[in-house]
Amino acid sequence: MADIDRRKLILAAGGTALGVGEALAKGRKAKKAERAKRTAEKIFHGGVILTMVDDKPKVDAVAIANRRIIAAGDEATVMPLADGKTQIIDLKGATLLPSFIDAHGHFMNAPQIVKWANVSGVPAGPVTSIADIIKVLQEQAAKQRPKPGDWIIAYGYDVTNLSDGRQITRDDLDPHFPNNPVMLIHSSNHGAVLNSAGFKAVGISAATKTPPGGLILRKKGSEEPEGLIMETAFLPIFANMPKPSEAELLDTFHEAQQIYACAGVTTCQEGATHAPELKLLRKAADEGRLYLDIVSLPLVLEVPTLVREYFPNFQGGPMELPKEAAGSFGHYKNRLKLQGVKVVLDGSPQGKTAFWTKPLLTPGPAGEKDWRGAPLFPPEQVNKAVAELYKSGIQVFTHCNGDAAIDMMIDAARKAGVKADQDSRTVIIHSQFMRPDQLDAYKELGFSPSFFTMHAFFWGDIHVENLGEERAFFLSPMASATAKGLRCSNHCDFSVTPMDPMRMVWTAVTRQSRKGKIIGPAERVSVWQALKALTIEPAWQLREEGQKGTIAEGKLADLVILDGNPMTAPTDKILDIGVIETFKEGESVYKRKAT
Ligand SMILES: [Zn+2]
Repeated sequence: MADIDRRKLILAAGGTALGVGEALAKGRKAKKAERAKRTAEKIFHGGVILTMVDDKPKVDAVAIANRRIIAAGDEATVMPLADGKTQIIDLKGATLLPSFIDAHGHFMNAPQIVKWANVSGVPAGPVTSIADIIKVLQEQAAKQRPKPGDWIIAYGYDVTNLSDGRQITRDDLDPHFPNNPVMLIHSSNHGAVLNSAGFKAVGISAATKTPPGGLILRKKGSEEPEGLIMETAFLPIFANMPKPSEAELLDTFHEAQQIYACAGVTTCQEGATHAPELKLLRKAADEGRLYLDIVSLPLVLEVPTLVREYFPNFQGGPMELPKEAAGSFGHYKNRLKLQGVKVVLDGSPQGKTAFWTKPLLTPGPAGEKDWRGAPLFPPEQVNKAVAELYKSGIQVFTHCNGDAAIDMMIDAARKAGVKADQDSRTVIIHSQFMRPDQLDAYKELGFSPSFFTMHAFFWGDIHVENLGEERAFFLSPMASATAKGLRCSNHCDFSVTPMDPMRMVWTAVTRQSRKGKIIGPAERVSVWQALKALTIEPAWQLREEGQKGTIAEGKLADLVILDGNPMTAPTDKILDIGVIETFKEGESVYKRKAT
């Protein structure tokens, strides 16, 4: 018997021939380690704890240790995990949730934006008129003290915010800024208004032809550019703008992450990454500057550059990928993860550059009749790129706003032989103006929409004007998609709209426009569903549902404390709920100053 026991002990100690004493010591050590693992570093209790787990939505206490949640349940089971050193956090009635996950946005706008002027409309910014824009730019100039020729850049411009009822033009800007190029980036990030110095700096004049897929508004009765340029007329110009130095950008990474942390977000998305941006993100990660997780989606057009850089010996064609490419995706290194590749199929609905099957009720951006937008790339090119991505096993993210762009993606996936049971988790970013029949195709192909319900508030009234009620009311159809059994997240497309999770919840729940109209009453969802779309659903889309998105034993201690409970707050009070503190893997990354 003794011999058998001894053998068991040896086996338990890992199968090596240890002496009994050594094995016992090892056993004791393991027990101690186990006990330590079960000793909480922090315990949260005394408030509302929403787990975001459907069959156990609330618990009384949560214990965390070693970056993870070690217990979530009633106080009788959680409190005994405390020892003398445990920090007991009394929520004092506040609400604890899994921290929010940015389902789609543009992190790399943040390090720049912190240095730019905000010309967004109320409530995202201070602007209601052209005069307000001039005022904001003057304040920016006073702060920035630009030398002649230095750019003054602002973000969030949108004509629909202006009580003047017209676009701001170079003639509005020139008297105030004769010596500095000015660029007001459109809220869609797909265009900008320039002043005369700006046009001169980028080389656009009356002689410039409008490129296909682009827009250059001209002064009445002349070829002189008036101010606004969009899409292919703007994007290459923006790409070639003088950029802040690498060191300047890296220095703003803390401020940039705080935009997220103070909103309770601990996983950020860089949802259209250019090759140089990826380099900068990598550098920030390797220098230890990231304390939030960042997932990056390199743009498909950047793939050849990235392949050349990372796989210099690869001999394949321009849109082909080496077999090893997929291995670069799907795991964090110093808080940065390559998630998948982004394919952009159309533009923005509010800029009227999305691609629809049926014309708008209003003229196109340059006054065109029967305007239904246009795709950014011909279908053959899309089919080829999409097929290559699926073949390589890299997750596909596509930007589709209009139903015709969505049709193109459905077609491309069918041609590539995609089926729902392959679990490829293709994310259709925005899925903004779907048709009801396309929900079935999503089901068939395993597509998952990432909706953008902020549109109901920011542009809902405009969409009704442009598209009519039937089509506008089906924007971001979260209720219909959920009823079909699709998993859907919700995003703010930062910096297109502000990083404001409670406004995302409120827009998903009320779908109320600026004018107070309900943009599709049938598509309103419950607060619970709206919160899931910011937590467990995007975690699933990013294949991190085992790590994030709910409060459950074993998951990362990514948590947020709110000063109100969105589940019980009167609907209009949801917007007033603020973030008290945000934790990334148990460490506080934002704490509101006591007032
Ligand atoms: Zn985006």
